Amino acid sequence: MRDLSRRDLLKATAVGAGAVALPGMMVGGSSAFATDGPGPSGATYPPAKLTGRIVRPQSPDYAEASLGWDELFVRYPLVIVFAQETQDVVNALTWARQHDVALRVRSGRHSLEGWSNVDNGIVIDVSELKDVHIDTATRTAKVGAGLNQLEAVTALGEYDLAATTGTEGTVGLSGATLGGGFGFLTRYLGMACDNLIGAEIVVASGVNGAKVLEVDPWNHPDLLWALRGAGNGNFGIVTSLTYKVAPLKSVAYLQATWSGLDDLHGVFDTWQRTAPFTDPRLGSQLEVHPTEILLFAVLAEGSETEARRLLEPILSIGKPEVTVQIGGWGETYAGFQIPNDEEPAKWKFFSQFTREPFPTKAISAIREFMENAPSPDSNFFTQAFGSGAQRQEPFGGAAFPHRDALFYSEPGAGWGTRGEPDSDDAVTPIAQTWIAEFSQALRPYVDGAYVNVPNIGMAEWEKAYWGHNFTRLRKIKAKYDPHNVFQYEQSVPPATS
Ligand SMILES: Cc1cc2nc3c(=O)[nH]c(=O)nc-3n(C[C@H](O)[C@H](O)[C@H](O)COP(=O)(O)OP(=O)(O)OC[C@H]3O[C@@H](n4cnc5c(N)ncnc54)[C@H](O)[C@@H]3O)c2cc1C
Repeated sequence: MRDLSRRDLLKATAVGAGAVALPGMMVGGSSAFATDGPGPSGATYPPAKLTGRIVRPQSPDYAEASLGWDELFVRYPLVIVFAQETQDVVNALTWARQHDVALRVRSGRHSLEGWSNVDNGIVIDVSELKDVHIDTATRTAKVGAGLNQLEAVTALGEYDLAATTGTEGTVGLSGATLGGGFGFLTRYLGMACDNLIGAEIVVASGVNGAKVLEVDPWNHPDLLWALRGAGNGNFGIVTSLTYKVAPLKSVAYLQATWSGLDDLHGVFDTWQRTAPFTDPRLGSQLEVHPTEILLFAVLAEGSETEARRLLEPILSIGKPEVTVQIGGWGETYAGFQIPNDEEPAKWKFFSQFTREPFPTKAISAIREFMENAPSPDSNFFTQAFGSGAQRQEPFGGAAFPHRDALFYSEPGAGWGTRGEPDSDDAVTPIAQTWIAEFSQALRPYVDGAYVNVPNIGMAEWEKAYWGHNFTRLRKIKAKYDPHNVFQYEQSVPPATS
């Protein structure tokens, strides 16, 4: 593992500040190394060939290779490249630029607007980059960008180590981390992106090429800052991620269920006034479903008694059914996963952060919308933030801005059957309308949105995702992707001056 010491900084600076040129990559230009940007702007590169596992429309596995987790979005890319090594990504990006083909980056396929795929373009898929190097002495882990969250949690769990991830195991570690990444460990260890201390990234270079940059707190620190919360498909293709990891031997996992919504006011109000301010080892999510309320909580290094005590104000409301398990984080995380094929095919969400407790009116609105939900798989999801570790920015800072949120929340609806593209089509407009009206009803009580759960059609989405960090993001974009090679519906545009 690399030791991110001052000495390494000096060594790295002597040879070019962390830029790595792969053999035979470039002709023209004065140097393959860059000290402060993506490379000599006038360089041209020899014609590139696609390498890796290539899937084209004629391939029998094209439909499966193209399909995302949210089957609401169906795209028909020209070609999908499943990279087997970093050079495949370099070749694919160079090829896309030389053929003027739209490109998208993909890892775990969970983009909630289908933005990791594109009609008539190239999908550069890193999901088969699955190397794992864990250094228990320095408590760092360098992993391929293709790991999903379950694979990452499991690999770390074998050493009683952990970093923050989101809750659903099949979500890509890359996509979650680069947009922020919160879950049960956020109040204990910060955002996933706060745990990120380095990355290997393939960026556009020169007129028509690509190159690899090694990014860490000393090499391209501005890019590391940007990757911590705005890295999704904006600056380049991340091929590996380095995390600082923390010891975590055991957790108490508590689940409580209230039948019906009659206790909603008491449960929600008590949760929002206590869970964000409790012991930072305790992370919790409250989910309101059409016919029940669910509380999920994880207490890091805690006992059942402690978990019950910390949650007592909430658990004392009504008569919830409560279960508690004690175990390693890896096995606990694996245990609460729902297999993808048991989930609805199509989904719609709307993300929002909240800084003040919801008033009674807002909780009444949640109840009313949930009682008129478009499908049984609709829910109102929340994640406690408050006084947890996410308040503290990591060394070098992060583009993720919502550190003082009380909680995150999202109305969500799921419908349709996986593998049956037309199933429940009639529900689609009803679910879309429900989400739009639900989020509108809560608009007076929320402030900010989460780029990993993008809000389509939202005015000033840039500010909602990144607040005042957006101006700096545009400057960093202009430095590393001046030609705006990485662009999609809500990508960061380069600064113009
Ligand atoms: C069921 C479900 C549960 C979720 N739960 C949580 C949660 O608990 N906490 C949380 O924080 N979020 C959660 N999310 C949101 C999740 O973090 C985002 O959907 C995430 O962006 C998905 O990443 P992915 O790699 O799976 O998706 P992809 O579709 O592969 O990519 C998503 C975005 O990231 C970009 N991207 C992917 N890989 C790279 C890369 N290597 N380099 C550069 N850009 C890349 C893509 O271009 C795209 O813009 C959830 C989403 C779903 C669908």
